[in-house]
Amino acid sequence: MPKPEEMYQCQTANCGCIYNPEKGDRKGKVPKGVDFEQLPEEWKCPVCGASKKAFRPLGSAS
Ligand SMILES: [Zn+2]
Repeated sequence: MPKPEEMYQCQTANCGCIYNPEKGDRKGKVPKGVDFEQLPEEWKCPVCGASKKAFRPLGSAS
């Protein structure tokens, strides 16, 4: 399991999509093992299409 701070969650209302670096993003053609910080700037949330700026680390919530 990745650490919480390595998992990023989309903050857009009604989305809540989580980027898991162990899974990557098949829809966005991101292979497994790619950290969120390594995603290209043009990467978008596979669920709602929000930009990377809409994501926050899960570990920072508490
Ligand atoms: Zn989203």
